[in-house]
Amino acid sequence: MNSKLLYSSRVACKWLAASILQIVCGVIPFAAAQQISVESQATTLTDEQVEVIGGHWGIHRASGTDSSAAAKYVYRDGEKWVDLFSYHMLDSNKDGIPNMSISHDANHLIIKSQGYPNHPTAIFPNSDNPNTIRVQDFTFRLPLVPKKSETITRLPMGPVGMSLNGVVFFNPFEMAGLNAVEGYDEVWLDACCGHPQQTGVYHYHKYPTCVKSPFIDTGKSHSPIIGFGFDGYPVYGPYESESLRAMDITGDQALDVCNGHEDSQRGYHYHATPNRFPYILGGYAGVVEPSNNREFRRPRLGAIEDQTQPGEKYASQILSLVPGTLLQGKTQSVRITIDPTKARRGVPEGVPSWVQIGPYEAQEVEREGDTIVAKIDVPQDASLGVMLDCHLEFGTTSGRPPIVLKRNNAARVSVE
Ligand SMILES: [Zn+2]
Ligand SMILES: [Zn+2]
Repeated sequence: MNSKLLYSSRVACKWLAASILQIVCGVIPFAAAQQISVESQATTLTDEQVEVIGGHWGIHRASGTDSSAAAKYVYRDGEKWVDLFSYHMLDSNKDGIPNMSISHDANHLIIKSQGYPNHPTAIFPNSDNPNTIRVQDFTFRLPLVPKKSETITRLPMGPVGMSLNGVVFFNPFEMAGLNAVEGYDEVWLDACCGHPQQTGVYHYHKYPTCVKSPFIDTGKSHSPIIGFGFDGYPVYGPYESESLRAMDITGDQALDVCNGHEDSQRGYHYHATPNRFPYILGGYAGVVEPSNNREFRRPRLGAIEDQTQPGEKYASQILSLVPGTLLQGKTQSVRITIDPTKARRGVPEGVPSWVQIGPYEAQEVEREGDTIVAKIDVPQDASLGVMLDCHLEFGTTSGRPPIVLKRNNAARVSVE
């Protein structure tokens, strides 16, 4: 089988933004990547410009106006005030309601969220997930001043925290108690590390590589914030300092069972730990805000433990991805070799309808036998070092869900 240079129909759809065309193309409308410059979000505010509302939180009002539209919630992260949310507060699914809106009371930052991903996702339902992503009506309350608890509160099922884009973090387990990351099937999470459950809640079980942080993670200093636990403590990306991941620290500063540690600038905070259980949170070290999850009415105690049994890990149908290192700011051809004999439902002839590596979608795809060649644009502001998952989709003409192939930790982004 030898097909040459066929454009993905799904990519073609994305060029034509109107939702009517998405319907014509048979694609469930999903959030198109937002074009906002990262620099515009990097605030360099002085303390005089921020009205502190509690703990690390403050409000910055644009000078010369007191209109609430010009007010932004900002967070004191180490030495600087950062605008974590503006990038994610647009109406990316075009339903007239912003993805997120924020207010506060005396004790809480109050976030209303649609819980809807503002990055590309796999098409759901697909051959390995029968659920559809649905818009949610979440209200989360983050304590403005988080408090350490005497005991660790166990992570409930359902939302355990919130990413900066309003999409929720779940604990590492699926309903059946299986580890969603290492467990039985890599296909369960799409290339952005999320998937929807039965009621359509799209959620992350591990470090979400597609969530755009206002600041690039260069791996050269402490990672930026990627979200918050429901005890109000922030969750940071994997790095503690240059080339040192927080998960590799030993001694006093080592991460605890909740995946957190403390320093003088940030106070107590969590780190995502790529490829190491519990991946995001292991438990709550702080006092949880009970309104955020029904299970908090009867909270259980203690950190979670990995229940993955040897041999559960699923054999990927993608054998290799070359090169495994993609260069920042470059367009590259990636050769993806598949093994159709490992795919439960077989692999269709022809070119995949879509290829995604982490947040990056292939612009052109061709196939030579069992090798897929995908042209990938890696932007200049790509985060460095973190392993990205690769996801292939073969659209079906019968109206049945697409057939998906997946490989975890397939590539990373580096500089030349
Ligand atoms: Zn899940
Ligand atoms: Zn840290």
